Amino acid sequence: MGGAGIPAEDLPYVWDAFFMSDKSRSRSEGGSGLGLALADRIVKLHFRKNEHPCICPREFPLCVCGKQPKGICITKKPVLPTEAETKENSRAKSAKLRVFEKI
Ligand SMILES: [Zn+2]
Repeated sequence: MGGAGIPAEDLPYVWDAFFMSDKSRSRSEGGSGLGLALADRIVKLHFRKNEHPCICPREFPLCVCGKQPKGICITKKPVLPTEAETKENSRAKSAKLRVFEKI
């Protein structure tokens, strides 16, 4: 992970896959620019799996696997910081909030 810090103007792009703040760093150093994009995708996938855990084939008229949902994903789209928040704290630009409510 990039330990050198990320300039404020690059913050809106940190969630994009393959985006790298430090252009001089090559892939040979191990960085792929996938860190945050992957992290968000993993969270989304995890939420979806826990909201709809049934693994029965589509053709089945009803569920026989017995896997029950563990909760519901409250945020279909991530909650992003408001303009006021980013003005007060520039690092808030890279924040994404997703909420899953346990049932
Ligand atoms: Zn099922």
